Amino acid sequence: MMISPKILIPIFSLLCIVFANNENLSEYDGLKVIRVLPVNHFQMISLLNLEDDIDFWRRPDQINRFADLMITPNNSQRVMQYLSSRNIGYEILIDNVRAIVQNERNQMAKIRKQLEMLRGSDITVGFWQSYQRYEAIENLMNDLQDKYPNLVHKINFGKSFEGRELNLMRIGANSNEKKPVIFIEGGIHAREWISTAFVTHFANRLLIGYENHEEDIKTLMETFDFYIVPLLNPDGYEYTHTKYRLWRKTRSTQKSSSCFGVDPNRNFGYEWGGEGTSSNPCSEIYPGTKAFSEPEVKAETDYIMNNLAGRALVYVAVHSYGQYLLYPWGWTDKPTPDNDRLDSMAKLATEEMAKRYSSKYIYGMSTKVLYAAAGAGDDWAYGSASIPYSYTLELRDEGYYGFQLPPEQIIPTSEEAGDGLIAMLLAIQKNDL
Ligand SMILES: [Zn+2]
Repeated sequence: MMISPKILIPIFSLLCIVFANNENLSEYDGLKVIRVLPVNHFQMISLLNLEDDIDFWRRPDQINRFADLMITPNNSQRVMQYLSSRNIGYEILIDNVRAIVQNERNQMAKIRKQLEMLRGSDITVGFWQSYQRYEAIENLMNDLQDKYPNLVHKINFGKSFEGRELNLMRIGANSNEKKPVIFIEGGIHAREWISTAFVTHFANRLLIGYENHEEDIKTLMETFDFYIVPLLNPDGYEYTHTKYRLWRKTRSTQKSSSCFGVDPNRNFGYEWGGEGTSSNPCSEIYPGTKAFSEPEVKAETDYIMNNLAGRALVYVAVHSYGQYLLYPWGWTDKPTPDNDRLDSMAKLATEEMAKRYSSKYIYGMSTKVLYAAAGAGDDWAYGSASIPYSYTLELRDEGYYGFQLPPEQIIPTSEEAGDGLIAMLLAIQKNDL
């Protein structure tokens, strides 16, 4: 069955105000994102077989659910033939990736100009009106620590492959080495900018809420210590800002290949290298030569094991896009012994996320909702670090903009996701402590 190819005319190309832009956009020429719909098991497996060398923006997850993949001038003919010979229906989701990249840059440049006039000494003013660079995120952590010396502690936990400092914020009232820990990981996949924007927004929300004596936030800040990593993959992130917007992996060099990088969310050492990974170093889901080969993943997991073992209660890895809240396992379709508990908390969180802007988040066990992806952070946190509440949160949107979520959606996305997280943590506090 073929869906008639429907071209969604990107409004950006119509609205696009062309600013002077010296950067070369030609590498985006001819890139398109198509949405495919597998309707049976054979089609599903066929799509999964494409994963080795095609960049899936959203993985094939279930029969009768869409997956999004990017095609290039080099492979479009081959992919189209592959799809039609298997009767896999598709439509064009983004006809002109270059126009979106261009539009995003123009929009951000415009916002930057407006903010330069507004911003005084407070870095948080306008911070979430646009996506920020590594240095600004570092400055934010410094400024929050200066502003709230009793509540925020910036901690270095390692260095990236290219030598950037990896830092996290410990946030809590009367922090000590005994409080249960909520660990929030942002920015592991380079192009998922909304992840870093959300986790920094959430950190600031905790601090403002505590200062303003908001009851719920006060409870959380007094009960837990939050360990918030805003940007676990700074090399990849900076690369998306300066070279190629759609980069996903780390930027490490590979001995066996001229391709760069490893998928850091396949590099964790729990069932490493299993289903949903590829031994091809050029693949977007290449897990590396061994578990923890990536210094970023190694640094984070060492930090958790050495400093937080036994008191880490919740781990949330923040990604985009698709609007999911997932829990282990991601490597097998057998449920964990904690399935009911994980499920009821995810249900509660996603219901709360829908309240403010009616956004629909799907929740469930990873391999029930998506196909297997071994070596991910949530499985490691649950399986190796024994963190009982382990989740992967996929933020907005459902595919219209994909990774290039417009900056004006940063705050609403962060608000609704924060609502869900706060509700879930309050429930955990009541149930478990
Ligand atoms: Zn991701």
